[in-house]
Amino acid sequence: MKILVTGGCGFIGSHMVDRLLNDGHDVIVIDNLSSGNLRNLEHHKGSNKLQVVIETISDFAKIESHFKGVEKVFHLAALADIVPSIEHPMEYHNSNVNGTINVLEACRKHNVGRIIYAASSSCYGIPDKFPTPETAEIRCQYPYAVTKYLGEEYCMYWAQVYKMNITAMRFFNVYGPRARTSGTYGAVFGVFLAQKLNNKPFTVIGDGKQTRDFTFVTDIVDACVTASNNYQIAKERINVGSENTYSINRLVELLGGEITYIPKRPGEPDCTFADTKKIKQLLGWSPKVSFEEGVSIMLDNIDYWREAPLWEPSSIAEATKDWFRYLGK
Ligand code: UDP
Repeated sequence: MKILVTGGCGFIGSHMVDRLLNDGHDVIVIDNLSSGNLRNLEHHKGSNKLQVVIETISDFAKIESHFKGVEKVFHLAALADIVPSIEHPMEYHNSNVNGTINVLEACRKHNVGRIIYAASSSCYGIPDKFPTPETAEIRCQYPYAVTKYLGEEYCMYWAQVYKMNITAMRFFNVYGPRARTSGTYGAVFGVFLAQKLNNKPFTVIGDGKQTRDFTFVTDIVDACVTASNNYQIAKERINVGSENTYSINRLVELLGGEITYIPKRPGEPDCTFADTKKIKQLLGWSPKVSFEEGVSIMLDNIDYWREAPLWEPSSIAEATKDWFRYLGK
């Protein structure tokens, strides 16, 4: 099959490309390298099954022709991270909302038969119920979450109005090799692994008892591929999680190292935990990589984070100033 992956040079996107090439497909990547990096696909250099187009999804005219003859699209391109979304909400809207409409329109024009949208569990904000089902109230806490949710809404409306076969997969705390190391402060694994490499203490937020549904990237990819093979689930929004939730203290225990404590950030949930009944029921899917295994894979690949920024309490305080300023009471 000819399959297009937006954001294919990014963290999750590059794992999707690995999987699709491994399954024997022809893959086209569209990525503007804003947070993605060609080194994430370096190991496929010279492959005649992979075409990488460096373009932005914000520009319909530049991307549209690449959707010709494509059978499936995995739409993973987006701006991530919380702080820059508070600082530059229009850029986030442009990439994550307008960019999504451009991808949907390109798919409509070229009759793409199946589309998977990377939605975010951040739409649940601080939920009342754990595990959190897809029917929980939408409570976006910051622009990144709003833009990812609006992208999801557009997908659902395009599915309804134009009868396109689109499914939104709501990812919970994805981690794995090649997890982003961009300049912005975010995603705990990149922060902690760089700290470990530099023999610095882990900056644990609050008391470290907060938990996250850490889901290994190859499980996320597998869930998306499984969903894409099922043509009966258009217009569904589906949680993808690890079926468990793990404390930051447990993560620190597995990584091994000293701790320094930093203040809790406003708008941050004490727990994320996907209710996975729906994905089990609709797709018979469940995750395969345990947290212990996943963390040990991260440690085996720790060299990837050698160039990642090293965060310390003072630089984190500086980098999250706007977070406290705008989201604090
Ligand atoms: N976290 C932490 N220290 C850090 C960064 C994050 O203890 O320097 C914790 C944070 O409190 C949260 C978890 O790690 O419980 C995941 O944070 P991340 O920003 O990766 O994801 P999110 O909070 O958006 O789920």
